[in-house]
Amino acid sequence: MVLWLPERWNDMPRIDREKLVADVDELATTLKKLAVLIHEQPELRFQEHKACAWLSAAARDEGAEVEQNYKGLATSFRAQAQGGSAARVAILAEYDALPEIGHACGHNLIATGALGAFLALHRQQANLPGAVELLGTPAEEGGGGKIMLLERGAFSEVDAALMFHPFDRDLLTHPTLANTYVTLEFLGRPSHAAIAPWDGASALTAAMDTFRLIDSQRIHLRDGVRVHGFMTNGGQAVNIIPETAACEFSVRAFTAAEMDRARAVVERCARAAALASDVELKVTVRRGYRDMRNNETLAKRFGVHLEGLGRTPKFRDPTVGAGSTDMGDVSHAVPSIHGWLAICDQDQTTCHQREFAGCAKSERGLEAMLVAAKSLALLAADVLEDGELRRSALAEFQQLS
Ligand SMILES: [Zn+2]
Repeated sequence: MVLWLPERWNDMPRIDREKLVADVDELATTLKKLAVLIHEQPELRFQEHKACAWLSAAARDEGAEVEQNYKGLATSFRAQAQGGSAARVAILAEYDALPEIGHACGHNLIATGALGAFLALHRQQANLPGAVELLGTPAEEGGGGKIMLLERGAFSEVDAALMFHPFDRDLLTHPTLANTYVTLEFLGRPSHAAIAPWDGASALTAAMDTFRLIDSQRIHLRDGVRVHGFMTNGGQAVNIIPETAACEFSVRAFTAAEMDRARAVVERCARAAALASDVELKVTVRRGYRDMRNNETLAKRFGVHLEGLGRTPKFRDPTVGAGSTDMGDVSHAVPSIHGWLAICDQDQTTCHQREFAGCAKSERGLEAMLVAAKSLALLAADVLEDGELRRSALAEFQQLS
């Protein structure tokens, strides 16, 4: 029997996987230098002008078409490699840093890992059956840049969104928590703290009592819920009964429903504290991030490539704590992965610690970034060429939606 094949089948160009890997190796010096440069000049959320410009320039140097100010976000950009129309894969680059502790979340490595994957694919642009884009996503640390991009339609034609994050271990999937921010402002009555304290009503006492009351309620919160706050205004002077005080809390949980329940507890505690001190309370809730919906189909394939590159990722690890990311919001819109790659020994240090910032510019960190670039490129190539993989990923996504 002669199998019928389309006439062009034999000529159909294929993405050369070995070349993808070799091209990342060839780009290694450039990628590492850029990762260190971004690390040395940390920029806070929405102020990542240098990182955005450097990454865009690196893509343009390779001949890629780059749009600045993407979707009206000054520190976002999109570079594209446009082949056929089979599918569109977005590889996401974060590059913002943290106040005081710089790149202690390793976003410099996320940025250059994504860039490396994109450039390797761009070099085979003519053979791509679909499109690949490098999407610069600013302000992951509390700014929700991805949510703004999402709301402005940046993911409307994307079939899969891929990224990795540095960590203390290799993990293909890991939950991240839905979160929300609650700002509590107390308004009391000032008075001289020595001459007539009885005439005053302390906003600070109410704010402090809020912390104590929340702690008293923790036993009623479900496993995995996180409530953590800090004082943003603790009064005006030592000799004035504080007229104003304020604190901010982040409330996180595995599901939006549990998060809402915990947020109501926080508000109740603040009301009780305000009542006790006879002060007024103003509550402002700011939306945070959604929980991460890991696409297991894509995560497994990501794992195959990581193993091929000598890593031994776990599929999940329930012993390790979870944070929150705006990639959670993206994962509710399109099939997404947010894999984790070790840049240090397990339990040595973790995100948002000073030692982790050191790891994010270490040789080990830079090598992990190259592994990420290769495996993201290989996965993107699979998504473009393997219709079955795309269909399975989509079916899984739709089942959860
Ligand atoms: Zn991070």
